[in-house]
Amino acid sequence: MGMAFKGMNQHIMPEHQLGRRNFIGAVAVVGTAGTVLGASALMGAGAPNPGPFPRLNHARFMRAAIEQAKKVSKMPFGAVIVDGTSAQIVAAGHNRSQENPTFHGEMDAINQCAAARPQTDWPKLALYTTAEPCPMCQSAIEWAGVAMTVYGTSIPFLQRLGWWQIDIRAHEVVRRTPFRRTALLGGVLEQECNALFLVALSRAQRALTRNPKRRPETS
Ligand SMILES: [Zn+2]
Repeated sequence: MGMAFKGMNQHIMPEHQLGRRNFIGAVAVVGTAGTVLGASALMGAGAPNPGPFPRLNHARFMRAAIEQAKKVSKMPFGAVIVDGTSAQIVAAGHNRSQENPTFHGEMDAINQCAAARPQTDWPKLALYTTAEPCPMCQSAIEWAGVAMTVYGTSIPFLQRLGWWQIDIRAHEVVRRTPFRRTALLGGVLEQECNALFLVALSRAQRALTRNPKRRPETS
C-alpha cells in the first residue's frame, strides 16, 4: 500500500471508532472457501483462531515493519516477510513509489524476497505490513502464495485521513481468490501504525500551511 493524500480537509475519525481488531483467517482455517468471518464470530466460538503460524509473535514482527516504514516518513508503509517455521525475517521493504508507482511496501518486500531467494517456499511465509494491503499488493500476496497477511492500520482509517485508497478491502481480495486460502489478521499494533500516518498527515498539513500554493507532500 502507499498512495498519496487526496486532500487535507477530510474528517478524521476518533481512534476508538477505528480500533476494532479484525481476524479474518477463517478462509484459511475455519471456514469454507469464500466464507469470511469477523472477530466476533471467531471469538464466540471459543479461543481465537491462531492462523497458520500460531507461534509467531505478531507484535514483534509488526514492530519490524514499523521500523521499515520509518525509512520513508511521508509514506510510512513498511513490510517484512517472516518464515513461519523459523520465525526469521527473510525480507523487508518500504514504500519506494517515488522510484516506481508499483513499489508499495509489500511489493518491495516480495520483490526483495524473490530476488534474494529464488527457491522461496512462499506458503511457509507471513507478510507483516503497517497498513492493510491495497488490491494490488494483496493480489501479489495471493499470486506469490504467502500464507498469511498481518496488518496494522486499516484502509478505512487511511481513507478518513484523506489518503488515496482503492476501495477494495484485503479480505475481499482473499475471498475472491479461490485458488488460495490466505489468512488475514488486521489491527496488530493498530494505534502505533495509525500514529505513523497521523504524523505524516500532520507534517503534510504544516507544509501546506507554510506554502498554500504548493501541493501537499505526498510521495
Ligand atoms: Zn499496495
